[in-house]
Amino acid sequence: MGSEFRAPSAPSRLRRAVFVDRDGTLNVDTHYLTGPEKVELHRGVREGVVLLRSHGFLVLVVTNQSGISRGLYTREAVEAIHARIQELLGAVGTRVDAFYYCPHAPSEGCACRKPGTALFEQAARDHHLDLGGCAIIGDRILDVEAGARLGMTTVYVPEPGAESNYPQEREKANEAADLLAPNFLSAVHLLLARG
Ligand SMILES: [Zn+2]
Repeated sequence: MGSEFRAPSAPSRLRRAVFVDRDGTLNVDTHYLTGPEKVELHRGVREGVVLLRSHGFLVLVVTNQSGISRGLYTREAVEAIHARIQELLGAVGTRVDAFYYCPHAPSEGCACRKPGTALFEQAARDHHLDLGGCAIIGDRILDVEAGARLGMTTVYVPEPGAESNYPQEREKANEAADLLAPNFLSAVHLLLARG
């Protein structure tokens, strides 16, 4: 008679995140964005971030900012840009859960510049992530490569409305990525459809 006993399933301690590139993916790539007043989010980014977080994903930005090493702008300027992004997302009640950036130039050979994986591994420690259950959305082949190294689902979104940005990468990125989307919101829908 009695109902079948079911042990409560252990709550999963590992979380899932969608990693998002910054320049060219979240916001319009101006090539060395130097200040918060120039931040312009791409269409559909607000809605996409809302959707991801409402489905339980953390949204984590990982960005190469070699302009710091090159002396083009400061860490403070980068932080101000991130604060501005949060302000723009806050207008629709959402936010990025954390930002990670590499300040180094390629010549420094660091482990954190994408396609290096150190910042993703740091994020995994900070947020208890199952990286294999995570995804990355980016507009550059180095985003796809970084994600692939970690077993993440990779979504390539060539920057909308910027036909001249990195055309030499498109064919290779198309081939290397798991998914291809025309814009950020489409990328989010593709990921959510995969579960
Ligand atoms: Zn670095």
